[in-house]
Amino acid sequence: MAKIIDGKLVSKSIRESLAQEVALLKEQGIFPKLAVILVGNDPASAVYVRNKEKACLETGIEPQQITLPEETNENELLTLIERLNEDDSVHGILVQLPLPRHISEEKVIDSIDPSKDVDAFTHESVGRIVEGKYTFLPCTPAGIMRLLEHYEVDISGKECVVVGRSNIVGKPMALLLLNASGTVTVCHSKTRNLSEVTSRADIIVVAVGRANFLKADMVKDGAVVIDVGINRLDNGKLCGDVEFEEVSKKASLITPVPGGVGPMTITMLMKNTVFAAKKNIL
Ligand code: NDP
Repeated sequence: MAKIIDGKLVSKSIRESLAQEVALLKEQGIFPKLAVILVGNDPASAVYVRNKEKACLETGIEPQQITLPEETNENELLTLIERLNEDDSVHGILVQLPLPRHISEEKVIDSIDPSKDVDAFTHESVGRIVEGKYTFLPCTPAGIMRLLEHYEVDISGKECVVVGRSNIVGKPMALLLLNASGTVTVCHSKTRNLSEVTSRADIIVVAVGRANFLKADMVKDGAVVIDVGINRLDNGKLCGDVEFEEVSKKASLITPVPGGVGPMTITMLMKNTVFAAKKNIL
């Protein structure tokens, strides 16, 4: 039976030490601030933004929430970001995705000053991750690396399989595992014989967005299984991409949903914001 990777617990201890760091920064006259921009009324996005605001308050970071109407145009948003880029009291800038369809996400994200890009989504941040010389890491993959470190999972030389190749999870996850000297395979919807590939893995990260996608017969005994998926079932309950009951009988370590990767994502955002606030004194 697998040991459960407790993302809540790890996240709590990181947030506590961040809160101490923030208190020290404030004594030096630095007041970490995160600007979070929400455009439109997407209910899921509103929940994510509220959770980010709560985490800010918990760690002592000042949240600056900016909510704009759905009909905001691209230029208005770009002008706002330019203003926040120039505002020295703002250390991190985050644009909640998705944006309304009439606005180019790529253009907007790339207008964020890379030194304030706490989501690590700008082209510059991505390029730095590819080279392994990053300032910020994208929050979900960074949170997973932190969990692996906490549970002393050795990545070097291990067969790592990432299922999913999105720009925010799968691709950066694969790069971080590669930077940690894993032997990495990335799978996606066109991958043939997926279970053959996943069955070879010492470490599997699943970020597909389909409930109970990874079954026990796709996993080898003793594998470390990281479930990124967040799926809402008809009964209202949340579940991951991994068939937890059965897979946990074979895995050595496994993340639950909820309580695994999820809590780490926002915590890493807080960590990036504190790092951004410290940049002038490092
Ligand atoms: P995307 O929809 O952007 O990407 C899904 C990926 O899964 C794609 O690369 C797709 O392949 C692949 N895929 C789909 N079907 C299959 C299949 N049958 N076999 C193999 N691969 C397949 O999702 P995200 O990466 O944004 O998110 C994935 C999940 O993680 C979602 O449930 C999301 O809610 C959750 N999530 C959780 C976070 C957290 O903090 N815990 C943070 C971010 C996301 P292809 O590219 O070929 O289409």
